[in-house]
Amino acid sequence: HAKEAGRNAYRFFTERMNAEARERLQIQNLLRGAAERGELSLHYQPQFDLGSREVACVEALLRWNSAELGQVSPARFIPVAEESGLIVPLGEWALREACRQAESWRRTGFAVPVAVNLSALQFHRSDPVELLERVLAESGLPAAQLELELTESVLVQDGGGVTLERLRRLKALGVSLAIDDFGTGFSSLAYLRRFPIDKLKIDQAFVCDISTDPEDAAIVNLVIELGRILKIRTVAEGVENEAQLRFLRERGCTLAQGYLFARPLTAAQFEAQYRAPR
Ligand code: C2E
Ligand code: MG
Ligand code: MG
Ligand code: MG
Repeated sequence: HAKEAGRNAYRFFTERMNAEARERLQIQNLLRGAAERGELSLHYQPQFDLGSREVACVEALLRWNSAELGQVSPARFIPVAEESGLIVPLGEWALREACRQAESWRRTGFAVPVAVNLSALQFHRSDPVELLERVLAESGLPAAQLELELTESVLVQDGGGVTLERLRRLKALGVSLAIDDFGTGFSSLAYLRRFPIDKLKIDQAFVCDISTDPEDAAIVNLVIELGRILKIRTVAEGVENEAQLRFLRERGCTLAQGYLFARPLTAAQFEAQYRAPR
């Protein structure tokens, strides 16, 4: 019967929903103690200057190796962390660890600017400037060696100019500011002029098919051109093949990041591969 079939479909649907909700709850509970149990680490993925071909910067990416669940991908745990507010302590852990690592490299003659992802919640809930001041002082890392990656969602909620004021104070500390996943959010072009942005990271969704899809090619082209006009550096994310690289070089994109050059690496791997031999 149709009615019964409908009921069954509904039952399967709710069971799946329940399973998903349970999984999220489990992740949330385990994630809470992950830092104390030493289950977190950072991986490092370089960004290359397309002119000089040198490593210009390295992005720190959070990794979670759970005793219970094994390696959990950020695609699974970051959304749960955002929902539950756990991204605030997790992001703070990542910021501290990235600054500590970058400073330890710098002190031993391997200075590479590090980029850290800062969630909208971290930016809006409490004062990110105070946190940055504290972490920079603790680690000893010069502010010029740190970049913060913010998503467009940070910029769109500018209640009474608080966002602009915070961005200006962060810039005044000497850190640089990048917009991550550019093109995927609801941003207006006006804020690019208003906010003190140093870098646009073109989302990998647009980069993926640039050599075959004329619309994606046009969008990426436009962002590179916009960067040139506004004097904001552009980074292509998710560069995986030579055809994409050729396109980006020809159009004058500043930097590129992706599997073609390097996967995210452990600190030891990154250092072994990119520290110039002494
Ligand atoms: P994101 O900041 O946009 O980082 C880029 C993601 O693309 C990373 O995924 C990276 O591993 C992946 N990627 C790099 N090159 C390629 C490529 O050539 N092809 C493909 N298909 N993917 C590539 P990952 O490490 O899984 O991180 C996913 C997202 O999780 C990040 O996206 C970021 O939004 C978030 N995230 C990671 N670490 C942190 C953190 O410490 N704090 C916050 N707030 N978010 C983080
Ligand atoms: Mg990022
Ligand atoms: Mg991104
Ligand atoms: Mg992303």
